[in-house]
Amino acid sequence: MGMAVLSSAKGAVLPCACSGRALALARVLGSGLRGAFATAGGSSSSLLPRRWASSLPQQLEPADRSDEESGGEIDWDNLGFGLTPTDYMYVMRCSLEDCGVFSGGKLSRYGNIELSPSSGVLNYGQGLFEGMKAHRRPDRAGYTLFRPEENARRMQHGAERMCMPAPSVEQFVDAVKQTVLANRRWVPPQGKGALYLRPLLIGSGPILGLAPAPEYTFLIYAAPVGNYFKEGLAPINLVIEDGIHRAMPGGTGGVKTITNYAPVLKPQMDAKSKGFTDVLYLDSVHKRYLEEVSSCNVFVVKGGVVATPATRGTILPGITRKSVIELATDRGYKVEERLVSIDDLMDADEVFCTGTAVVVAPVSTVTYQGQKYDFRTGPDTVSQKLHTALTSIQMGLAEDKKGWTVAID
Ligand SMILES: *Cc1c(COP(=O)(O)O)cnc(C)c1O
Repeated sequence: MGMAVLSSAKGAVLPCACSGRALALARVLGSGLRGAFATAGGSSSSLLPRRWASSLPQQLEPADRSDEESGGEIDWDNLGFGLTPTDYMYVMRCSLEDCGVFSGGKLSRYGNIELSPSSGVLNYGQGLFEGMKAHRRPDRAGYTLFRPEENARRMQHGAERMCMPAPSVEQFVDAVKQTVLANRRWVPPQGKGALYLRPLLIGSGPILGLAPAPEYTFLIYAAPVGNYFKEGLAPINLVIEDGIHRAMPGGTGGVKTITNYAPVLKPQMDAKSKGFTDVLYLDSVHKRYLEEVSSCNVFVVKGGVVATPATRGTILPGITRKSVIELATDRGYKVEERLVSIDDLMDADEVFCTGTAVVVAPVSTVTYQGQKYDFRTGPDTVSQKLHTALTSIQMGLAEDKKGWTVAID
């Protein structure tokens, strides 16, 4: 780590210990800082006036860790995907002073956080999220995570697109483990669900002109969850939306930015009011090719061929999608990542969705332009086989030959 020198908009020279990569991130942060300086008139020694920095929530005393083994009053049999607040969250920050390097992450009590009204995330949507699950192990004490490094790398990739610094893979995975252990009384019993983990990366620093924020917060909170769709494991009913799109070429559909989700609320609510489970989106150029559902990927099965839309920037590269592709290939199916048209869909035997929240969800019907198409569900379907294969690994019921699970003891 050599000492590098950054100059602010006002020409003040700011000493900063930066590596090459961190320096590039610091430049991104620096351009954001100019806006802050323009209004703050900040000093060169402290980049952000203290009162403008977002405050860390109350910190956790090392002795104040939850050691209870169960969540007490929770009705484990009726967990949906609702928000059950847990005990602790993890918070780590990074500002220009830190040269784009996160450090000093800590657990604190779960609760509200304070943000400047002019924070980048509130004004310009500079934010990313992740989603993952921790399962209780069947055989002995402890918990398992599923491919958490993949979530860490996806956050890094998204951070680049959103002009944010990101935690290292090691920091991310360590933070997730700490969050699970601190909230271990909230991990549902085997088979009843999982502890859902929600990592966030947000531009928490103040900025007025459109630019990257001068400070970033990485935060992880947790909530026990059961099934995502209220149908539970029952097949779901989708409707194709051909007038509204969730992504476009060159946009941000391929990263898990928070800005992709508020725009799908309206079509989703409309679909729900008509009795559908969710919306299936088409590509915005030809309006002919399947993309994905609001928060999960889609697959179609015809004969022994399993096809899913290729990820070319408009589809979120799901970790469940990637895992299911591998599991299906191992089981002798021909798996194709390609354009999947409406015609392919109409002709399919089976349709299913994949995602951390939904796992592998069979699709019973898809409605397109008023016409309802039916698909096979239930026993002996490809989706059911893949659901079993995936969840057995995730829940520790089958040997993990792929090294996908990470133990937390
Ligand atoms: C998160 C998400 C998925 C699923 O990704 P996983 O890594 O499998 O959880 C699919 N599509 C969208 C739009 C998503 O936000």
